[in-house]
Amino acid sequence: EMTQLGWNFDNSYARLPQAFFTKLKPEPVTAPELVLFNRRLAEELGLDAAALQTEEGTAVFAGNGIPEGAAPLAQAYAGHQFGNLTMLGDGRAVLLGEQLSPNGRRFDIQLKGAGRTPYSRGGDGRAALGPMLREYIISESMHALGIPTTRSLAVVSTGEEIRRETRLPGAILTRIAASHLRFGTFQYAASRGNLEEFKQLADYAVERHYPHIEAGKDRYLAFFKEVAERHAQLVSKWQLFGFIHGVMNTDNMTISGETIDYGPCAFMNEYDPATVFSSIDQQARYAFGNQPQITGWNLARFAETLVPFLHEDKEKAIELAQGVLKEFIESYYAHWLNGMRAKLGLFGEEAEDEALIGELLTLMHQQGADYTNTFRALTLGELNGEGLFEASEFKEWHAKWQTRLARQGEGTDALTALMRRSNPSIIPRNHRVEEALDAAVQNGDYSVLEKLLEVLADPYAYSEEQEEYTKLPPEDDAPYQTFCGT
Ligand code: AMP
Ligand code: MG
Ligand code: MG
Repeated sequence: EMTQLGWNFDNSYARLPQAFFTKLKPEPVTAPELVLFNRRLAEELGLDAAALQTEEGTAVFAGNGIPEGAAPLAQAYAGHQFGNLTMLGDGRAVLLGEQLSPNGRRFDIQLKGAGRTPYSRGGDGRAALGPMLREYIISESMHALGIPTTRSLAVVSTGEEIRRETRLPGAILTRIAASHLRFGTFQYAASRGNLEEFKQLADYAVERHYPHIEAGKDRYLAFFKEVAERHAQLVSKWQLFGFIHGVMNTDNMTISGETIDYGPCAFMNEYDPATVFSSIDQQARYAFGNQPQITGWNLARFAETLVPFLHEDKEKAIELAQGVLKEFIESYYAHWLNGMRAKLGLFGEEAEDEALIGELLTLMHQQGADYTNTFRALTLGELNGEGLFEASEFKEWHAKWQTRLARQGEGTDALTALMRRSNPSIIPRNHRVEEALDAAVQNGDYSVLEKLLEVLADPYAYSEEQEEYTKLPPEDDAPYQTFCGT
């Protein structure tokens, strides 16, 4: 039954066994104000965008008004946090319910920063305005780049202050996801030792995300294969775009294969596989170059929960899971290699492509070249300036690349088109994001942020107005650091 604002809820997660959630309402806030609203996304969801930009909509995004048909709850889950298994759950998020969109898809509507829940542990259940705006910018940019991700529908400021190291303005983000099922949801279910309950969760996840997998004895192995393959694709994209997630704990890995949890993430400037931005990642566990391997580690933790359902013989079950993990590594690498070929305009496959790609990355690393701008310059054929492009080794590499390009039958137009759709002209540069957040949070000026969102929405445009946004931060900038938990 559709409501006036277009809400069309069907809350399937709430029909799972009681252990998987706690029903509760968001905690109301005093003076909510809608500061960002994603009109296009609202329309895709079948929502009435105009009506949502009124007080009634603001109340919903603030948790002050529960829309008709919603069944708010906090989800229970566990997770390996930097390697240690912990019982967690939505400590500051409330799932309003699942919206059925006009094209027949199902989306979680979640309020992040909606107040305390039974899973809050020591936390206040709240979120700060800066980080919620940051999640909005980066998740929407990821989507525009073509990287599977949760989306951002709205941000409201709450009119309340929250206490961190200093006092910060509070906010709530409305997050949209294919679902919020995580590897950690399965770890939570497995830890309870109730196989019947676990099976209900697994069947639910299969039906929701992989409905082509039929019931039968190989169902859960097929499920694991699909999840592994989605993550092979996902992490290959992170590597191809220079995205560093920053907190790849198993509770931040989705069953759907969407990127989730934009805390300490950031795009890398200078190419260096050792890059870490997160202030809490002291061991560099989640460094850029480790991401594929960590995805494999996380998949292994997920597989452990499925072992009793993979084969009646435990040894055999483990062997089957290990086979999938091996396929994951191979598949990741194949996706990455093909993606790199596209970035360099290579059609077809040649045995030397791997070496050609590897040599370029080595030179970029040695020369401290900017990751995104190097590929942008190669796309535009604008190889001037100091650094990488002046190095004699680069000139040798460039000659080899040109020889490889000359061997392929496709013409210049096809080459340019392939490179332009494989290499974004712009990414959310950290200093640009910070500049937009400062203007918004400190001065209530959202124009810088709105402008940034506009250019990031079309990252392959190579338009003149984007040029300004391709510039690097001033040399004397201190190393960029990101924080989570705000
Ligand atoms: P994250 O590192 O963002 O994945 O968060 C890990 C866990 O901490 C999740 O269960 C969050 O819900 C919880 N959490 C983060 N911030 C807060 C907060 N301010 N209040 C309560 N729980 C929180
Ligand atoms: Mg999280
Ligand atoms: Mg987080």
